[in-house]
Amino acid sequence: MSTETSELPVVPHWIEGAESPSHSGRTAPVFDPALGVETKRVALADQAEIAAAIASAAAAFPAWRDLSLTKRQSIVFRFRELLDARKGELAEIITSEHGKELSDALGEINRGQEVVEFATGLAHHLKGEYSEQVSTGIDVYSTKQPVGVVGIISPFNFPAMVPMWFFPIAIAAGNTVVVKPSEKDPSAALWLARLWKDAGLPDGVFTVLNGDKEAVDGLLTSPDVAAISFVGSTPIAQYVYETGTKHGKRVQALGGAKNHMLVLPDADLDLVADSAINAGFGSAGERCMAISVLVAVEPVADELVAKISSRMAGLRIGDGRRGCDMGPLVTEAHRDKVASYVDIALEDGATVVVDGRGIEVDGDPNGFWFGPTLIDDVPTTSRVYTEEIFGPVLSIVRVQSYEEGVALINTGAFGNGTAIFTNDGGAARRFQNEIQVGMIGINVPIPVPVATFSFGGWKASLFGDTKAHGAEGVRFYTQQKAITSRWLDPSHGGINLGFPQN
Ligand code: NAD
Repeated sequence: MSTETSELPVVPHWIEGAESPSHSGRTAPVFDPALGVETKRVALADQAEIAAAIASAAAAFPAWRDLSLTKRQSIVFRFRELLDARKGELAEIITSEHGKELSDALGEINRGQEVVEFATGLAHHLKGEYSEQVSTGIDVYSTKQPVGVVGIISPFNFPAMVPMWFFPIAIAAGNTVVVKPSEKDPSAALWLARLWKDAGLPDGVFTVLNGDKEAVDGLLTSPDVAAISFVGSTPIAQYVYETGTKHGKRVQALGGAKNHMLVLPDADLDLVADSAINAGFGSAGERCMAISVLVAVEPVADELVAKISSRMAGLRIGDGRRGCDMGPLVTEAHRDKVASYVDIALEDGATVVVDGRGIEVDGDPNGFWFGPTLIDDVPTTSRVYTEEIFGPVLSIVRVQSYEEGVALINTGAFGNGTAIFTNDGGAARRFQNEIQVGMIGINVPIPVPVATFSFGGWKASLFGDTKAHGAEGVRFYTQQKAITSRWLDPSHGGINLGFPQN
């Protein structure tokens, strides 16, 4: 954070359907991670800007809520068409601030677009229920109404997809939203705001508030914000959940992860090795569904380590615009933190099979580079095992049985994703039943549910009781009313002070 003036462009807010420059005097740096240079600054909102963003969203709510469902949906349809036609631009923005390689950036947009497509059919999910004649002459029915202003606070690792898990459904359901992007890669949200404008969304329905803790706290405590969707690290998710609910909001707060892949001896080890590479090192391991621990049921560990390390030798690390397999890490500080786990592994007696420090890259030497790293025999007491590293570091833990592997996964603090690799359907079925994790892959390493289902983990990976998108997303952004109705029959009436019953 800085209060100094700078020649670099400053990423503004988006309020009332237009870019809104900040006057807070506070900004934070935005880097191009593959070049290692600061390319712009991002505005950090002050109290006046926070209030203006929320007030604009609150003022837009009544008219948006009352616009017909058909008209709301037609705007979502137009947004989908524009996104589909122009998503290449967005991918380039993501790569220039996050560092992930271009096709991966396009991949996250496509997964977000799935939720937009789900929202184009939201009318079906907003239908209520109707029971006729529950008592003589009385009918009961329910409606689903929007909750109001929704705050969406997102992490750096999916600057387009994570906001898109939430806002298409929130908006189609009649809410207005204030998105607070990560300070590290704020421009994707601005691009999405312009796209909404082009799609015909009324001003104030989609707002972008750039900032840090001050902006987050503003959303969490404002009486004009009804609901908060948060994604980020576990300590902040817990803070957001506790603060938001204390201020009377409904909150869903998705946290960190440490995802295990359990490999049974009967699995196809070539498929396992490919999957471990893809899920461990894709997006430089900066995915909440990345596999960070491979739990090998003996006797397959040695063979697996050989297969994985030989494949790692062929990975091309470099600038995400050059068609490499893996890009840099998001910031220098994060790169240094991830790299520090190699020393921790050595101190704790693990075997560093492939060390990502000092990797040769196809990119600028000043980029925030750290190569894929493989660490074998990781003690489960080591911080390499217990902490979320959020980088391209794959740990191997060896166990003697399926039961030992399941017990290990179930004692972990997180419960976001997991996968089992086996050719035994009975073992897979038992795993899906016994494992204490929210999203499970069977021979699928990154089991991110499609948009018609809901995304979210268990334990320290999600605070609240509602997951993202799918039916749970619709429930989160709507509140139900139950209406008991009687159109008077002239033969009916009379005084009766008893409790209404059938
Ligand atoms: P982060 O927790 O540092 O930041 C997330 C958001 O919280 C950002 O918008 C940031 O500005 C804000 N924030 C940061 N510190 C804050 C504070 N003290 N008070 C209030 N707000 C604060 O997370 P990150 O580093 O941007 O993202 C990586 C983390 O997100 C990882 O832990 C990853 O597992 C997690 N993640 C989880 C999921 C999931 O679905 N469970 C998905 C993506 C990322």
